[in-house]
Amino acid sequence: MSEIKEKKKYKRIVVKIGSSSLTHEEEGGLDFQKMEHLVRCLCDFRNRGMDVALVSSGAIAVGRGALGLSEKPRDIATRQACAAVGQAKLMMTYERLFGEYNQVVGQVLFTKNTIINPVARGNTKNTFDELFRLGVIPIVNENDTVSTYEMQFGDNDTLSALVVSLVKADELILLSDIDGLYTDDPHDHPDAKLIRVVEKLDSDIIGMAKDSTGSDLGTGGMSAKLRAARIATYSGADMVIVNARDVRILYDILEGDFTGTLFKARYNPNFCLENYILETLG
Ligand code: GLU
Repeated sequence: MSEIKEKKKYKRIVVKIGSSSLTHEEEGGLDFQKMEHLVRCLCDFRNRGMDVALVSSGAIAVGRGALGLSEKPRDIATRQACAAVGQAKLMMTYERLFGEYNQVVGQVLFTKNTIINPVARGNTKNTFDELFRLGVIPIVNENDTVSTYEMQFGDNDTLSALVVSLVKADELILLSDIDGLYTDDPHDHPDAKLIRVVEKLDSDIIGMAKDSTGSDLGTGGMSAKLRAARIATYSGADMVIVNARDVRILYDILEGDFTGTLFKARYNPNFCLENYILETLG
C-alpha cells in the first residue's frame, strides 16, 4: 500500500457530496460554511480551465428540515414530498452561492430511465457537453420526486460514477463522512487501517466493503462506493474517497497529496456501460 503522492492534471471532474456532509448532524439544517467552501473551490477549478460537475444529495434531508419532520421519512410518498420541497431549496441556495462568483449553474435530474434508454442517454450526454462548452457547472441529483422504486438508483455514489462514464470525466471525487476505504468497518474496529491507493478492484478489496457510514441521512455505504469505483475506473477515470470534514481538501487532491483513498483508473475496453446498467440496474 503506497502513499498518495501523485499530481495529475485533470480536465473534467465530477464531485459528489452526500447529505450527511451537507447538513449539520444534530439539527439537520444546511451547513452553509461547508457549502460556501465547496462552491468557492469548484469555481476556482473552473477558473483553472477544468470542466466541473457537482452531484449533490440533500434534497430529502433539506425537505425534511423545511417540513419540520424529526424522523427520516421511510415511506415513498413522504420521501418524494420532501424531495420536491428540498430540491428547490437546495438549488436556490446553490444559485445564490455560485452567483457570488458569477458562476452559472444548471440543474440535471436523473431517473434510471435517463441512463437505460439510449435516446434519453444520448440527449443527456449532449446536454452535458453543451453545458460544459458554455462554462456552466451542472448540479446533478436523482429525480427523487418521480423516481418510484423501479426507477430508482437509490444512491448518488452510483449516479455520480454513471455521470463520469457518460461525460468521459477523468476524475470522480466522493466527499464522504468517512476518510476512505478501510480494511474493516472503523466504527466497529478501531484498529482498521485506511487504504491509500487501490490499483485494482480485486476480491480482497471488495471484501472490505461494509455498508455502515455512521449517518442516517445518506444512502450510499461502502459497497455503493466500490460499485462507483468499478464504473469510474473501468471507464478510465481515477476515483477518490475523502472526508468532507473540510472540503478544501479538494485542493490537496489536485496537488496529489491528501488523506483518503485513490482508486486508480484502469480503463477496461470490455466494460460496456449499457450492459452493466442492464445487468445491475435494469
Ligand atoms: N437523492 C437523495 C437526496 O438528494 C440522496 C441519495 C444519496 O444520499 O445517495 O436526498
